This record gives sequence, structure tokens and C-alpha cells, in this order.
Amino acid sequence: MHDVFPASSHLHRKPASSAVPMRGIVDITSAARQHPDFARHERVLMVTEPSSGLDAIVAIHDTTLGPALGGCRIAAYESPGEALADVLRLSRAVTCKAAVAGLALGGGKAVVRGRPGFRPAEALFRAFGRALESLGGRYITGEDVGSTAREMDWIEAETRHVIGTTRLGGTPSSTTAAGVLAGMRAAVAHRLGTDRLAGATVTVQGLGGVGMVLCELLAAEGARLIVADIDPARCEEARRRLKARIVDPAEIHRIPADVFSPCALGGVLNDGTVAALRCAVVAGAANNQLRHPEIAETLRRSDILYAPDYVINAGGLIAAFLSLKGYRPGDAAVLARVREIGSTLTGIVRRAEAKDQSPAAVADLLAEERIAARHAARGATVERRTGT
Ligand code: NAD
Repeated sequence: MHDVFPASSHLHRKPASSAVPMRGIVDITSAARQHPDFARHERVLMVTEPSSGLDAIVAIHDTTLGPALGGCRIAAYESPGEALADVLRLSRAVTCKAAVAGLALGGGKAVVRGRPGFRPAEALFRAFGRALESLGGRYITGEDVGSTAREMDWIEAETRHVIGTTRLGGTPSSTTAAGVLAGMRAAVAHRLGTDRLAGATVTVQGLGGVGMVLCELLAAEGARLIVADIDPARCEEARRRLKARIVDPAEIHRIPADVFSPCALGGVLNDGTVAALRCAVVAGAANNQLRHPEIAETLRRSDILYAPDYVINAGGLIAAFLSLKGYRPGDAAVLARVREIGSTLTGIVRRAEAKDQSPAAVADLLAEERIAARHAARGATVERRTGT
């Protein structure tokens, strides 16, 4: 197991309660192997604690490059199967995201199942924190849809294997938005021949933590904004502060634009929506935008440049990784690293064109190459040590 927190780390401190193995953790890796999205996960765990209502799945996809880090999503899934599919897809995406961003991290994710409108209490997060403590740092959690720094603080009362806490600088949403902007700029430069977003029309779906900050950054550059959110208050805020035009959430992908930026939930690029797109570039923050992998090829054939989601939404993960080394999300070193997302995307797009492949396929390949290179380097080290 990796030593996630070396002695010099500012995180090296005792959790509030002692680490006691938790009874409610069941290893469901063997059963999950049958799932079409299994993708060779290292471990899949069911975590329950009845008195607090905790009902979660933790998926640890690949720890070749480092400990599995990934947010904790709280959502009202219709079935356990739906929750499993989501967590498996999300954790694999973090493995790819970390590898492509060049971070010494692996991929993992947790989903907490709730009912619609469910607002879990402190006891649930404390129970989840105790479960993470008993995993010994193999999985590090953080914020995701449905949770904030407050919930991470509750988890931190039980374990140090958590990021995004108030103490570590809170939500990485603004850093994620900065990275999406860098990726969008690179995609526009490639497709439209200018890296200036002034005058470009950008449709933004979802005005949450990332989408709203992205809109602020785009408005500051002089982009024309057309936005949608299921929350009318957020739309109103964007209209009032950023002079954004508001459209129906069900229609936003149909609006002619230079860039369509999905910043709500996943699966938005599917067989139905892609045919209706009227944009040159898709570049947004949402995880798992492609309903299925073949959609990337459909977009390529439609002459739409798709900036792979996990390549350009890595800003939050980069900030999280650097927070483990003592940096705060707004530090210049963090932002400089996040801006490199632009050159990473350009490299992927050029390689994709040279190989006649989609950028999404090339990004996956790049991640696999980096993981394979680490395996090979380890093999070479073992050979040197053993003299074989
Ligand atoms: P959020 O929950 O703060 O915001 C999501 C927004 O989307 C909300 O305002 C919600 O009302 C809106 N929304 C939901 N369904 C919608 C629909 N059908 N049409 C239009 N709007 C809709 O989430 P966030 O932190 O801004 O993250 C947005 C996306 O980016 C998520 O997919 C998340 O997984 C991904 N992401 C976030 C980060 C981060 O740092 N927060 C990092 C990487 C990826």
C-alpha cells in the first residue's frame, strides 16, 4: 500500500476517533465483475451503517500511479444497479484524469444513495469517515455533486483521508472552471484559429459551482453567453450579473453556438442530443458526458471537436493533489499547473488527427500508456533488485 501521508505532511495527525475496522464494509468486487462497466476495478465495497442511514458504494479502480482519490457523490439513485454503474464509470474516469494530468494518483469514487431531496446529516458523514479510516488511505474522498466543504469537515472529524475540507481550502470548483476555460480556449484555437473567446457564443448547461464561475470567466473575456439551469434563481443570477440569455434546459444543446459547454450531469452527449448539436466545439466540466464510447466517433464524423471531459475538468483534481502537498486552491503554482490543461488538450487533439481517431480515444490511450509505463518501470526495478 502507498504511504499517502509521509511524516512531513501537514496532514499527518491523528483523526478525532481511533481507527476501528468497521463492520458494515462488504467487499462486492467479485459480484461487480459481472457488470459491463467493471473495467478491472481493484476493489468495490458496499458501506452501510443503519443507525445513520449510510448506504454507499466505494469503487477503487486503479492505484498504480498513487492512492485512489475521487469525490463522494450524493444522489437519489433509482436502484442499487444504477448506483453501481455510476460509481464504476466515475472512478475509472478519475484514473484516466489523474494519469493524463500527470498526477501521482489513482482513481476512485464513492456514491451515497439517498432519496430525492435527501439532505444527509452529520452522523452519516461521520460513519462514512470511520469507514474510510478503516481502509487506511487506499481511497481518499472529497466533494462532488451533493456535498460541500461542510460535509468534508464532518468526515475529517473521523479520518485524515479526505480533501476539500475548510482547512484545506474548501471546494475546488473555481479551479475546475479555470481548467475548463484553458481547455476550451485550446479547443477553440485549434478549431476556429483564435484563442480569443471575445465575441464567441458559448452555451453553458448547468450554473452550479463550476458552471457559474466558468460563465464569469467567459463574460470577463467578452464571450456571448446563453445558459440553462433547472434552478430559475441561478438563471436569473446569470442574466442579471453576466447579461446571459436564458433558454430552456431541454433545448440548450440545440442552440447554435461556437462552443457547447455541459456543466450539469453526465450522459448529455447521447444518440438523441448529438444529432441536434449546432456547435463547433464541445468543452465542459460535467463528468462522463458521453453516454457510450461510440458517441466520440459520431462527434468526430460530425466535425465537432469534443474536448474529452476528464482532460479539461481535471483542475479540481490537480488542486486536490496539490492540497495534499500544502498548496491552497488559488495559489499561483496551482493555477499555473491547471493552465497546462490547454497544452495537454492540444497535444491530444493533434495526435488524434494524426491517427484519424477521436480525442476521447487518444486520451484513454494516453492514460493507459502512462499506467503501463509505471508497471514497466516497476518491473525493471524489481529485475534490477533481483538481478533477473
Ligand atoms: P453543482 O451541483 O454545483 O451544479 C450542477 C448544476 O447543474 C446545478 O445548478 C443544477 O441545478 C444544474 N442542473 C442539473 N440538471 C440540469 C439540467 N438537466 N439542465 C441544466 N442544469 C441542470 O455541480 P458542479 O460542482 O458545478 O459540477 C458540475 C459538473 O462538473 C458535474 O458533472 C461534476 O461531476 C463535474 N465536475 C465538477 C468538479 C468540481 O470541481 N466541482 C470537478 C470535475 C467535474
